[in-house]
Amino acid sequence: MNKELRQAVIAGNWKMNKTRPEAKALIEELKPVAEKATCGVVICVPFTNLETAVELTKGTNIKVGAENVHFEKSGAFTGEISADMLTEIGVEYVIIGHSERRQYFGETDETVNKRTKAALAAGLKPIVCVGELLWERKCDITKEVIARQIKLDFFDVSAEDIKKSIIAYEPVWAIGTGETATAEQAEEVCLFIREQLAEKYGKEVADSVTIQYGGSMNPKNCAELLAQPDVDGGLIGGASLKAQDFGVLLDAATNG
Ligand code: PEP
Repeated sequence: MNKELRQAVIAGNWKMNKTRPEAKALIEELKPVAEKATCGVVICVPFTNLETAVELTKGTNIKVGAENVHFEKSGAFTGEISADMLTEIGVEYVIIGHSERRQYFGETDETVNKRTKAALAAGLKPIVCVGELLWERKCDITKEVIARQIKLDFFDVSAEDIKKSIIAYEPVWAIGTGETATAEQAEEVCLFIREQLAEKYGKEVADSVTIQYGGSMNPKNCAELLAQPDVDGGLIGGASLKAQDFGVLLDAATNG
């Protein structure tokens, strides 16, 4: 078991929730809850809340992430935000390739790869999401799907850079549905991802990469999921919007 070789990270994905006053209130609630966590604590918030979140979390153990980033440095890309724009205001993490972006906004493995490389080049830590559809799991091709995503999403990403990246295994059928992967299913795929990384980068590098589980993780199911040997924290949607629930997850990651 090599869990001590990497940091467990609990990252909240607020999605399209919270106006600025609501965000301020939630962050103030989160600060004391997160204070004692020994895992990494990240909140990924809507673009309009990024500056507020960076300001309010200064001097705390809470890091701030965006929910997407464009791959070009600047130019005629209406509505998009570049990696430099994020780092300039103090953002440290960014979610890339979330299944909602893939499903509703035409994100492909090629654009995930471009965004990942642009984020890394700018000094952001990408949280790259991979995961199979329910139909793909039923057809018993989960591992093929994941292997393909890992190959394409990290094409041309160096060993140094993969160590700075987080991979979130998020079975699409478990996101926002209340249906969670079993601890065994989560461990099986997280371990498989680590094996894919070991083939490409070697075991030492693979053992150092944080691989999260995401998909309806909540205070009731988190302990078992987070205790799995290859599950290094979680990417959390719904439960990241309630400070008390998020606190239970932080404790479970701290203890797991
Ligand atoms: C997510 O949005 O990445 C996620 C895992 O959502 P939820 O926890 O609500 O399933």
